[in-house]
Amino acid sequence: MKKTNLSRAVMMGYVILISAGWVLAQDWPQWRGPNRDWKVSGFTAPQKWPKELTQPTKRVFVAAFSHETNTFHPLKTTKFNYYQPKTTDRPYLSIWKDTGLVAVPGVSAHPAGGGTIDGPACREAMDRVLNSLRTAMPVDAVFLRLHGAMYAEGIGPAETVLVGEVRSIVGPKIPIACTFDLHGNIPARLAQFGDILVGLKTAPHRDSLQTAELAGRILLDTLLGKVHPMSYVLPIPVILQGEKAMTTSEPFRSLVEEARRMEHEGVPGHEARILAATLFVGCAWTDSPDTGMSVMVTADGSRSAARAAAVHLARRVWEARRQFSFGCETAELEEGVTRALEAKESTVFLTDSGDNVTASTPGDLPIVLRHLVERKVKSAVVAGIYDKAATTQCFEAGEGNKLRLSIGATVEKRFGPPLEAEVEVLRLVKRYPRMVIVRISDVEAILAEQPVAFTNAGQFGPCGIDPLSRKIVVVKEGYLFPGLTRIAPRYIMLLTPGSGDMRIESLTYVRRRKPAFPFEADATFDPDAAPDLETKL
Ligand SMILES: [Zn+2]
Repeated sequence: MKKTNLSRAVMMGYVILISAGWVLAQDWPQWRGPNRDWKVSGFTAPQKWPKELTQPTKRVFVAAFSHETNTFHPLKTTKFNYYQPKTTDRPYLSIWKDTGLVAVPGVSAHPAGGGTIDGPACREAMDRVLNSLRTAMPVDAVFLRLHGAMYAEGIGPAETVLVGEVRSIVGPKIPIACTFDLHGNIPARLAQFGDILVGLKTAPHRDSLQTAELAGRILLDTLLGKVHPMSYVLPIPVILQGEKAMTTSEPFRSLVEEARRMEHEGVPGHEARILAATLFVGCAWTDSPDTGMSVMVTADGSRSAARAAAVHLARRVWEARRQFSFGCETAELEEGVTRALEAKESTVFLTDSGDNVTASTPGDLPIVLRHLVERKVKSAVVAGIYDKAATTQCFEAGEGNKLRLSIGATVEKRFGPPLEAEVEVLRLVKRYPRMVIVRISDVEAILAEQPVAFTNAGQFGPCGIDPLSRKIVVVKEGYLFPGLTRIAPRYIMLLTPGSGDMRIESLTYVRRRKPAFPFEADATFDPDAAPDLETKL
């Protein structure tokens, strides 16, 4: 009698076989078969196996570790927020559905503040992520959601350091896929640790999900043996404000299109497919040796093709360096407010870009509010000034009451004093984060117990404010987010002071690379001199 070794099928599919109504050739009085040796006789393999049995499970460790560190923020970040999903009862990515890829969630960690990260706090966070990986081992792959602009004292580019330590734990053969924001400052050595490196392609960001799906698809194909990803990272000595490199305007739009074209057509002189090509703008407000633009390419089976594509794209970026300019209307504070007041549009949004909360600033500067009050502007709302004490005082005073308040500049004290004013409490927003709407003369302000960026119209609802019913709406952003450009008849980016100051030439950098454009206008760069594949970076 022919014996069939069914060990894997039994382990994975015993219950499925029974529940599917299949009849085995003999009774199984005990687990592991009649002889408890995983062997069964009298079994004829079916012509077609059920799908569940043909796709062996692959365990993918999944975690997030990300930050856009603003080293010009006045405070150090000493705490992290952690989370770890208990289980994944749904596929982590839709493209992993019914593929046999199972996400094994690890500890994810995000700094709870905007400024330079304290070294020991960052080390502890990295250890917690890495320990969760050790607990999850063995795994078949690693999938990390990163940003790329995290900077910690004594550690440097913490996300890259983490990927290096993940590589030491899992060994050289386990594929590591990472996703990034395009405002990451990416060191060249990252490519020594990560196989599949994919960043966002849109600014303002609209493709977070597509980016994850692309990285997830390459990872899936890697585990199926269809592709063999190899990456290359080429830094470019250009430090740029993100607002000058938006995919809604040139030259960045065409540069990103060129990266997309390479993903479809490859790079001349190379057979290998380009699986992913990302142009990084970098984050100018992270003062680090890695700050600046870069190109990151993942190719199939050829690091030399990845390098060639990176060199090609880096050359295009370098040639365009003098063409980058703010992709939106900009103005100094006084001029911007004047333009808004004189505008034919019924509403003009003004972004307080120096205190851009989405660039990890404190979000507590009252500069624009003071200016509007002093100019006796009517019909204006300043959305989101972080001031916990003032918010609490208003809650204690209650709606409809008046009190004297000191507003803002509780964290960021380098750009002027708080605004001292008599305010009327118009409304309390009791859900987290607690907010209060106050009136100062004819200007309304929304104070909050947390730094808050108003990025979509829905956030104004709980405040009882229809932004389109005001002449001026101020938010703490750089470029206006898509959720508001959708409704804004017009917007002007105000070039205001703060730790997110757009006039980066006036910032005091101590760690940035030199030379770098535009600081050293005569800086040179030869993409062809990019390190070859053997160079240890
Ligand atoms: Zn970004």
